[in-house]
Amino acid sequence: MTHLTAAIYVHSLKQAFADAAVAAERGADLVEYRIDTFIEDAEAITELVETSPLPCLITCRPDWEGGKYEGDDNDRAAVFEAACAGVNGPAYIDVELLAFQRDPVFRQRILNLVDHPAQTHNTPPTTGLILSSHDFESRPIDLFQRIEAMAAAPACRVIKLAWRARSLRDNIEAFEIITERHKPTIALCMGENGLMSRVLAKKFAALLTFATISPSPDASTAPGQPTIADLQTLYRWHHINPETAIYGVIGDPVGHSMSPAIHNAGFDKIDHNGVYLPLPIPPEYEHFKATVATMLDMSSLHFRGASVTIPHKQNLLRFVDEFDGIIDPLAQQIGAANTLTVQPDGQLLATNSDYDGALDAVCDGMSITRQELANTRVAVIGAGGAARAIVAGFAHHGATIVVYNRTVENAQRLADEFGDMAQLAGGKIVAAPLDKLCDTCCQLFINCTPIGMYPNINASPLDADTLNRLGPGAVVFDTIYNPIQTQLLRDARSAGCLTIPGTEMFVRQAASQFTAWTSQPAPLDVFRSVLIDKLTDPVS
Ligand code: NAP
Repeated sequence: MTHLTAAIYVHSLKQAFADAAVAAERGADLVEYRIDTFIEDAEAITELVETSPLPCLITCRPDWEGGKYEGDDNDRAAVFEAACAGVNGPAYIDVELLAFQRDPVFRQRILNLVDHPAQTHNTPPTTGLILSSHDFESRPIDLFQRIEAMAAAPACRVIKLAWRARSLRDNIEAFEIITERHKPTIALCMGENGLMSRVLAKKFAALLTFATISPSPDASTAPGQPTIADLQTLYRWHHINPETAIYGVIGDPVGHSMSPAIHNAGFDKIDHNGVYLPLPIPPEYEHFKATVATMLDMSSLHFRGASVTIPHKQNLLRFVDEFDGIIDPLAQQIGAANTLTVQPDGQLLATNSDYDGALDAVCDGMSITRQELANTRVAVIGAGGAARAIVAGFAHHGATIVVYNRTVENAQRLADEFGDMAQLAGGKIVAAPLDKLCDTCCQLFINCTPIGMYPNINASPLDADTLNRLGPGAVVFDTIYNPIQTQLLRDARSAGCLTIPGTEMFVRQAASQFTAWTSQPAPLDVFRSVLIDKLTDPVS
């Protein structure tokens, strides 16, 4: 069993009990009391352990190992003695390997407190000793010597290693250490790159993971700790087991992505044994290749797919090509893929779900089939990445397309690239400068620029007069989803046009990924409500 452990700094008995009670209520089953600065009153320390609402782990971390305790090891031994002076004692005490190794007097005082083979007490204590090692900067070069020393100490019941992850690959090493364990092990990576090790501690049967009761940075005892609530509700802690499949959003940055909330809620809904994580990877192809290859190589990770966003959409095509995977021909033609699927036989598949997302949003919004797109005259506003996927989709179905763009050369390039495809299907593409949009004869308008996006929420690529002239016969689709109701959509609605919000494209492209990974239809209503909640929540 992997304990969900609430990490709590102790400032007073009252506060520590209250925090531990909250942690218990939220589902933690162990509490770590960090008594680094709560050291003066021995009786209070004993009482803390004796009356704790949860079994506890006592840590008094010195400043030289990243903690706040500034005294010497002699006084620190007395603090641990106070913690173990009651009838029950803590479940564990955590002592740094370095302190345990270098000072025989301190070591002997610790050995007197814990359960180990050479214990001479008539009634041996039940407290287990965690020997720990931390590096807040990087991965220690002597990591394996440290593990060996902990494994060789007979009194050490649990090995604990924590270091700041340099990249996602450090998490994979942490999982390998837990898997090849000599003893129960905790291996956690700190910082933004280390979230995976904290969430997946349960998948690899680590002794515990740490989480906080509040998102405040002051509440965490190490960088990158999630809240208990996030572990439970966002990252599906109770559903994680050794077989859980891993998915995620690969990008740089990915910290504010809404995809984990959406996909994990979807997995909940259909009871899929998976968890979806943010997977930050720096922009260069070599980082992408090394990280994704390492995740695929570790078969026990069960890495099954990813959403791939800026700046890795081209990197995904190159990677899948190099690894003899399949690239969907449309993704190839668009020149970017945003979905990686690891198929049941292990072969990689790269697809572009923006394409499906946009077409599904338009077809459902207009109540038409994809074949009926051939009858549309569509103005695509913008000629960047989103416009490429949309132009490809409409060209493939034989629509008549005008690409309006600030830099008309970019629009022309798009028209040249997809012109043959459109012609083959009976349609055509022309390029036009953005300021000619007011003279348009199109009936469907798709904004693929950031004009109107937060924080410039009063801007619009199409003025209200033009929309009023177009009237109820026109359809306006804004790919922007923050805000949900853009100025363009508000004006279009006032003019009587049919409107389609960018949230629909976002939901549909996520749905296309979800189906590729799970072979099941996505719960669109769940996706919509999670996305709308996130977009209207002022905190996110
Ligand atoms: P991009 O590759 O950077 O392209 C941006 C396009 O907008 C370019 O054609 C650029 O014109 C034009 N543009 C930028 N600022 C402009 C301005 N101030 N005035 C006029 N034109 C301007 O961006 P992208 O990835 O295609 O994203 C575009 C929009 O699509 C974003 O708002 C994004 O939110 C949305 N999107 C939505 C979804 C969804 O799921 N709903 C998915 C993807 C994208 P130049 O060629 O002249 O530079």
